[in-house]
Amino acid sequence: MATVKEFRNNVRPNWCPGCGDFSVQAAIQRALANLGMEPEQVAVVSGIGCSGRISGYINTYGFHGVHGRALPLAQGLKLANRDLTVIAAGGDGDGFGIGLGHFIHAVRRNLDITYVTMDNQIYGLTKGQTSPTSGHGFKTKTTPSGNIEHAVQPIELALGAGIGFAAQGFSSDINQLTRLVELAIQHKGFALVNVFSPCVTFNKTNTYDWFKQHIVNLENDPAYDPTDRSRAMQKVLETGGLCTGLIYRQERPSYEELIPGFQAEPVARHNLQMDPGVFGELV
Ligand code: SF4
Ligand code: MG
Repeated sequence: MATVKEFRNNVRPNWCPGCGDFSVQAAIQRALANLGMEPEQVAVVSGIGCSGRISGYINTYGFHGVHGRALPLAQGLKLANRDLTVIAAGGDGDGFGIGLGHFIHAVRRNLDITYVTMDNQIYGLTKGQTSPTSGHGFKTKTTPSGNIEHAVQPIELALGAGIGFAAQGFSSDINQLTRLVELAIQHKGFALVNVFSPCVTFNKTNTYDWFKQHIVNLENDPAYDPTDRSRAMQKVLETGGLCTGLIYRQERPSYEELIPGFQAEPVARHNLQMDPGVFGELV
């Protein structure tokens, strides 16, 4: 059983001091240690953006992919090596802009992977442009008169696409975030943890204080039932998406479990046996 320290490496994150992504990094490291995992059992796959750097900052296997493609990479990895715990990670621009099509299909495909999104409602790496989750009226250099589009609401989209696990966390509450990441990893199927992870440098609207004033923590409501999908959707709509905690969870077979024979034999090994000539040419 590896400790939290063993999930750290010697790469110093170049995120700005105070960036919400530090907490997400720490929450993933704590969750992996709490679940008794070893670094070699895990792969963290990311796309492009400030948050995309996270795959280089956690001592597991890592793959820093191209913009919006964390989920195709993560799904391919999981299919090729079902023994790996696969965590995809990235930002709101990466996952809900260019990668949005992949997100919807990953949700409905339901492979057993975890997707942690660091949602700061802005493009941070490119120095502060309006992103798909930026609010209506949000002003940046690309929308100097205010954003005239409406924001994508990740949990609403995920519930609409039939997700089996949807949670939302906040960088200021690392204990809750760690618990949510643990639950997501344990869930058999596609699990989303969307994290309000403030960009302290470019987003002066959705700050830590702003989230503290607006977030509704579902853990404070003992009557909330996360197995009720219509109630989950209602809660997301009621709060404008600003609710944290486990929002929805439903156990059902994952994609892998529905592939005939997949559980008995890893895909890569199976193909090797079926057609050794092809693999012979490759090696
Ligand atoms: Fe974080 Fe924003 Fe700095 Fe990027 S620009 S590292 S998102 S605070
Ligand atoms: Mg962003």
